[in-house]
Amino acid sequence: MKIELVIATKNKKKLGEIKHILKGLDLKIIALADFKETPRIIENGSTFKENAVKKALKTARFTKKLCLGEDSGLCVDALKGAPGIYSSRFSGKDKSDPKNNLKVLKLLEGLPLNKRKAHYTCAVAVADQRGLIGVVEGKCFGVIGFEQKGSHGFGYDPLFIIPGHKKTFAQLGLKIKHRISHRFRALEKARRLLQKYIEQYQSG
Ligand code: IMP
Repeated sequence: MKIELVIATKNKKKLGEIKHILKGLDLKIIALADFKETPRIIENGSTFKENAVKKALKTARFTKKLCLGEDSGLCVDALKGAPGIYSSRFSGKDKSDPKNNLKVLKLLEGLPLNKRKAHYTCAVAVADQRGLIGVVEGKCFGVIGFEQKGSHGFGYDPLFIIPGHKKTFAQLGLKIKHRISHRFRALEKARRLLQKYIEQYQSG
């Protein structure tokens, strides 16, 4: 029987990216949405890693299965790393991706491209009901554009320009994003942890 891996996120776009990047592992991937009840997780860590660990541990204890917790966000140099761990709720109570993007644009108003450096960070934690197996991180560097461009991806992708391509992630599409993103880089490291876990399980 295959090991089941629960992806501890309710963000469908993230789930799609994670599933795509983890293709080929001898695991059955399950979405949190497939459970009738899910644990309430308060993201009150002070780092991406802390939040990812919390998501993985809480979900693993609740489901009694192997779990992957992911926490990610955008860090803008000129904003001293903001929105950072607050990326999804940057525009407040009535948050939405376009509102978050407009807030970033407003805060960077008047700054030239060389002062608009930013990076995405993605932390991935793997845990089972006995505890934490590992936590890893990946980053992707870029600059914030002057307007939203493109329709692929999610979140800040219409603003996030990859200098080598001179286009935003939302213009470049998922094929390129999956090869260079913060999520890809973190999950490539997590893949090694998961592969080891599968091998140990299979060898009894
Ligand atoms: P989390 O679900 O608390 O980890 O929040 C992640 C937030 O960071 C998302 O809602 C987006 O605003 C932002 N974010 C993380 N990864 C990406 C990405 O790959 N593209 C665009 N925005 C992202």
